Amino acid sequence: MTRSANTAPSQNGQPLAQSWADSTTVFAAAAPYLACGVTHARLANLNLASYAEAPSQSVWGLNFDAGQNQLVKWDGAYVGAQGAPNAPCAANLKSDFLKSDACANLVASGTAYDMDDPAWLINVSDQNRETCAYKFFSGFNMLGYNTMAGNPSLQKPQVAVLQQFQNQRGLPVSTLVTVDGLGQLDSLLVPREIKIAAVAATFPLYGRMQPLHRNDVSKNWVAYIYMLPMSVLPAHLRMGDVETTQCIWGQCLGFLQDANGVDLPCQQGGCYTTDLTVDYRFAGAYFDPRRNHAALPSAAADVGAVLHEYAHYLDAALGSTYPPNPLLGSVATSGFYDISYDMSQAQGACAPRRSTNPQDWITRYGFAGVPGGCMQGKVFIAEEWAEAFSMYVAAGRNFRAAKRRHCAEVQLAEDERVPEHRIRYGSPARRRERLQRRSRL
Ligand SMILES: [Zn+2]
Repeated sequence: MTRSANTAPSQNGQPLAQSWADSTTVFAAAAPYLACGVTHARLANLNLASYAEAPSQSVWGLNFDAGQNQLVKWDGAYVGAQGAPNAPCAANLKSDFLKSDACANLVASGTAYDMDDPAWLINVSDQNRETCAYKFFSGFNMLGYNTMAGNPSLQKPQVAVLQQFQNQRGLPVSTLVTVDGLGQLDSLLVPREIKIAAVAATFPLYGRMQPLHRNDVSKNWVAYIYMLPMSVLPAHLRMGDVETTQCIWGQCLGFLQDANGVDLPCQQGGCYTTDLTVDYRFAGAYFDPRRNHAALPSAAADVGAVLHEYAHYLDAALGSTYPPNPLLGSVATSGFYDISYDMSQAQGACAPRRSTNPQDWITRYGFAGVPGGCMQGKVFIAEEWAEAFSMYVAAGRNFRAAKRRHCAEVQLAEDERVPEHRIRYGSPARRRERLQRRSRL
């Protein structure tokens, strides 16, 4: 069936829209509602006459070899069964993410899909959301899997993450998404979707999110990644809705755009805010269908990045303040920096490190920072605060373990250095006891 610009209007006076759905989308829309025993459709009719279930709409009537006829609107939206609905078959997919998806339903019908899809990359490095591989890749991201796994030079993280899943779930390891693997992915996504919905709905930009690519993660998942880390901060560090929006436009992770995906401009010199009276939309940093997409960080790394960027926003050492954004530059960090850097020699955000041992820093990025811009012997300090803040909030157990280890090492060094300590804590038993006491800090 085709639609040309000069097609006559339908009987109900409504021509088919240019965006009418493909047949695979139409069948996938009906898939969660099919009775057991369906193997194929016997008839598929696009009816321009009005159905009682969808007045004045162009609707597909699908007749299957078991159960009731199913009705799906021209744009792929499920309408319902004709007559009393079927009891859906227990084997139908159940997660919102997969149940009406064409890729997933093709696998569910028994056709295994090879994740090593030759169309995975566009122009060497851009991950191709048009592939079914991206849909399943996104599903693994929503379960917390590391979607940057594997050897980066092979550029097949979609295969690496599938095989990690297969290994953990006792599935045969291959490049194929099979009915069994899909069933496990689906049943793990169902409780996760329930768990994230309430937090996702509190994201202030929830009602303004740019549409995601159909093969990308769910809208709730993006909102959850942004909202979860903010929701666990102490009350005085939580931004109001307007400041959250301005921070995302400015320093925080993500983008504010107009309806066409163009980033919004500054509102004033210094670029502290953008004009929120326009029709603006939010796009997550790794979820913008218009941007080139080289990699999808794990959800944990993404949450870490949300906190990291927010820490820069809070950092008074960076020198930005603007009264309408009360939390901008509101945290005095010079004492914190002075632990790792000799701040008496600071010039702007550059200072000498107190130690050249990377183990004294909480992350490698905190130690190495970003190159350039500082005088000889000094380094850019700001990544250390951002990394430490992010780790303290998102990985508190690791943070405290690193602190205990560090304190114990400092204690050992001190006991070696100070003669009085060498005598008082000289016996191995006393030293061990002293270290244990310290490590409970
Ligand atoms: Zn940074």
